[in-house]
Amino acid sequence: MKPWESGIRKVTPYIPGEQPRISDIIKLNTNENPYPPSPAVEKVISGYPTETLRLYPDPACQVLVDAIAEYYGIGRDCVFVGIGSDDVLALSFLTFFNQELPILFPDITYSFYDVWAELYRIPFRRIPLDEGFAWHKEDYRIPNGGIVLANPNAPTGLYANLNDIEDVLSHNPDSIVIIDEAYIDFGGTSALPLLKKYDNLLIVQTFSKSRSLAGMRIGYAMGNPLLIRYLNDVKYSFNSYTMNRVTLEAGAAAIKDRDYFVQNCQNIIHTREESKKRLARLGFSFPDSMTNFIFASHEHIDAEELFTALKEHGIFVRHFGADRIKNYLRITIGLPQQMDTLFDFLASYIEKHA
Ligand SMILES: *Cc1c(COP(=O)(O)O)cnc(C)c1O
Repeated sequence: MKPWESGIRKVTPYIPGEQPRISDIIKLNTNENPYPPSPAVEKVISGYPTETLRLYPDPACQVLVDAIAEYYGIGRDCVFVGIGSDDVLALSFLTFFNQELPILFPDITYSFYDVWAELYRIPFRRIPLDEGFAWHKEDYRIPNGGIVLANPNAPTGLYANLNDIEDVLSHNPDSIVIIDEAYIDFGGTSALPLLKKYDNLLIVQTFSKSRSLAGMRIGYAMGNPLLIRYLNDVKYSFNSYTMNRVTLEAGAAAIKDRDYFVQNCQNIIHTREESKKRLARLGFSFPDSMTNFIFASHEHIDAEELFTALKEHGIFVRHFGADRIKNYLRITIGLPQQMDTLFDFLASYIEKHA
């Protein structure tokens, strides 16, 4: 070890899903949307006046903040935007979790939460999910420095109803409760109506999944104006120009196109429900997903072997090594024809190996 290494902030980073450079693969590994974004986005980008790029963007991101506020019918002072929800969540951890008591989140959830906690030296405690991967509201009635719940949860896909979310909020008035709603548009009900009642609630959402804009990097938080002000104070102490000019305009255009968005989500939900039936017929079991992916395990076939076989066949899915979930594959819902290819392969593989 070099003498200066002992003073370095060392972290074990989050490992994102692969982004292979070959293009003729079926990519079902990072929960991207298989449909293109709204045509309104194409219009903004192809006609973008590039001479304006010499100027800094609006640090307050007002066009995008206003478009999101209008879409949800909330005040513009209740909205914060960032470079994907990863950025919004990372800043939220830094802003809201600043105590000796541990923050709480499930043992199986988005694997970035413990990475941010380690990065910022925030004590944390993992609360085990039950056998069926559900969390229980009673487990969140202990002293804590904050709570983070993904709803629906990742990578399980399970949705918890709003009564349970409200129970956590009402039992923890001294803690900020972050609800990560990255997948809420695929069938769940957002905690948004609870914002009026609970000033300790922060809802985080993203354009990456349901709005087909993972490559653009847009995420946002919704909460009461005081929380949003604290978040902005930290943002302005870190990087005032987070969102670029093109992204701000493209994002505003995307969220205004409500019809396209609704149709896009319906397509995914339809394909997901079909996929559940096909997986069940092949002997897979899975928590009942309300997202754009299914977390499936086969009764006779090892998940890691299947993962490798799929990859060799040009079909990328996600496998996590953690003990409780190592026999599961997370399969993103793709286009109907991509799912046909997947199921053809699965059927023949299972016939040969089961
Ligand atoms: C995808 C995802 C995110 C991050 O998405 P961004 O692309 O950074 O907006 C956050 N939380 C969960 C649970 C996710 O699955």
